[in-house]
This record gives sequence, structure tokens and C-alpha cells, in this order.
Amino acid sequence: MKITKITPYIIGDVRNFLFVEVETDEGITGIGEAGITWKEKSEAGYVEQLAYSLVGEDPMRIEHLWQLMLRVGFFPANRIGAAAISAIDIALWDIKGKALGVPVYELLGGRVRDKVVAYPHVVGDTPEELADDAKQKVAEGWRFARFNLPDDGDILDPRKAVRDGYDAIAAVREAVGDDVELIMDVHTRLDPTEAVTLCRDVEHLKPYFIEDPIRSEFPGALKRLRQLTGTPIAIGEQWATKWEFRETIEQDLTDFARIDLCIVGGITEARKVAGWCETHYIPIAPHNPLGPVSTAACLHLDMATSNFAVQECARPPGTVLPELFPEQVQLVDGHLYTNDAPGLGITFNRDAVSAYPPVEGECPRLSRPDGTFTNW
Ligand SMILES: [Mg+2]
Repeated sequence: MKITKITPYIIGDVRNFLFVEVETDEGITGIGEAGITWKEKSEAGYVEQLAYSLVGEDPMRIEHLWQLMLRVGFFPANRIGAAAISAIDIALWDIKGKALGVPVYELLGGRVRDKVVAYPHVVGDTPEELADDAKQKVAEGWRFARFNLPDDGDILDPRKAVRDGYDAIAAVREAVGDDVELIMDVHTRLDPTEAVTLCRDVEHLKPYFIEDPIRSEFPGALKRLRQLTGTPIAIGEQWATKWEFRETIEQDLTDFARIDLCIVGGITEARKVAGWCETHYIPIAPHNPLGPVSTAACLHLDMATSNFAVQECARPPGTVLPELFPEQVQLVDGHLYTNDAPGLGITFNRDAVSAYPPVEGECPRLSRPDGTFTNW
């Protein structure tokens, strides 16, 4: 079997998604997704560049092609490159599963669990609204509630955000009780000192983890945070390749690894990072704010990975791009389920692409009260 064509599709919906289809001379196709939102044109360009190196190659040689994609042309792929590699890699696993007639999780060693617990995004502008939405999500069957560190529209005052963050966690805990796990995503918006205050203040409310309490460029800054609080933390959704995870894993700087399969380098690289995490007893909690391909890829890895904690599921299967992906994985009572279909177990309807023209625009912005740019 040989790769004949690789096509990136920028799909506009509530925002853009970047899907990549890999075609072969045997008629088997695979679908992948790249994960750096608001950079879809860059990712698509990188995919088109890689296509020159991949057409004519055997799609079954996934590891070989991964190494080629990372290092072809001498300069190792950057983060946009790793996202492009991710999309192609996921499509190659889809092709391999279809060619061998087995679901992808079988290629990863087989099932270690029967279902995958997932968490939704809980939304609201006030503690009361968050508490109400969390109760609604629990009534739908979810066992987790995840929400953002509060902001004030386009302003983030860190000291106020810490106080509002405490109030939000306290309100949701009061509303849903102790059996529902709580996650607050700080989204890299705080400096270490403010993150220490938040994590210490909420210890008695027992959040499952505080996500991305600080920026991710310098993992060493997590050392002081971890010395000063027992609140579990999770980081990693911005990182590409095993090398960006290395220091954090080896120095036990996180409690959970937020691997993004569509940024880190696909299923191939996520599996290696998960194995590295296993040596330090760090469970994975894969990042997934993306579309149906990311959800399916995460699910297959989670099904075959022992050190797994919980799966983010911001866009429940069936609720996003149903015409483009008429078959998606299943969500029942807050748990994701694979089917027995070969590959990822989803279908891509190329004919529906024209109904989703790309959306123009950029990511929302946040500023500190004095106008300083801060992470959104
Ligand atoms: Mg996050």
C-alpha cells in the first residue's frame, strides 16, 4: 500500500478545525486532526509541505514516517510542525486499523478498561451560574465538572481572579457535593505567587486538579508551587513531542499529564509520553477541546493505557459537525465508548466540507487592568 494524497481541510464552525485526510492506492483512507486553534492556515501549510515527503511511502510504517516527518529537511519540527505531524499520524493509525480490520486500541495493546470517564465544560459568569450548570451536567450523568478561572470580560486582574476562583470552586462544591470531581482550568493566566495562593486556599475543597496554574514555557517554576501546596496540578496541553514533557515528568512537577494528541505528535508520540509518565506513576488526562477525530483518537489511547485518569470532552460526540462526521464515538452517562469498527471507528464525509467555509478572525484576548497583554 502507498500513500497517494494528503489533504488538509480547514473547517469553519463555531471556530475553525483542521482535519487531514490521507488517501492510499488501495482505497483505504484515514482521517486526522491538528490541535493548535487559530493557527489552522499554518498547520495546513505544514501538512502540504510534509505531503511532498510522504506520497509514495508505505502508510503502515507509522514509526518510520513519524521520524521522517519530525526530522526531514534537517531542522526538527516546531510546535506547528508537531501539530501537522499529529494529524497525519492519527490518520495513519486509522488506515492501519482499517487495513488490518481492527480498532486502533487493539493495535495499542488492547483494552485495559471497559469505558472512559470524561469531563464536560461547565460554564457561567457567576458562581451561582456555574453551580447551576454543574448540577445540570451531573443530572445528565457526568461525574466531573470543569470550569475556567473567572475573568471580567476582556480584563483579568490576577488578585481578584484568585478570590473569584475560590468562590467559584466553593459554590460548585456546595452545589454538587463531594462525589463529583472538580477541575479548575487557570489557562496559564496566573504568575507563580498567585497560583500558590489559589492552590493553598482551595485545598480543603479538594479539587481533582488545578489545570495550567502558571505558564508552560518554564516547567521549573512549578517546583516552588509544589513545595507550597498539596492541591494536585495538571499541565502539558501546550507541549509538542516527548522532549517538552521530559523535565516535568523526570522531576515530578505535575500530578497529571495533559497530553494533547493533536499537538504532541499524534497517537505515536502520546503513547510514548504516557509510557514515560508510567515510570513516575503520573496518570494522563488528555487535553481535548477539539473535534470528533481528536475525541476518537484520545478514546483509543485511553482504552489501552493503564495510567489514565480522565478524558476532557469539551464537545460531546454527535453535537459537533454531525454532517461531516456522520459516525462518531459514543457518549453515555459521562463515559466514552469505542465501537468495534476498524480504525478510529468514525467516518468522514468529504462531500460536506463545502458547507463549512473557514471562519476569519483571531483568538479572544485578555489584558491586565493596566492594559498589559496576558494569556487568554
Ligand atoms: Mg486547559
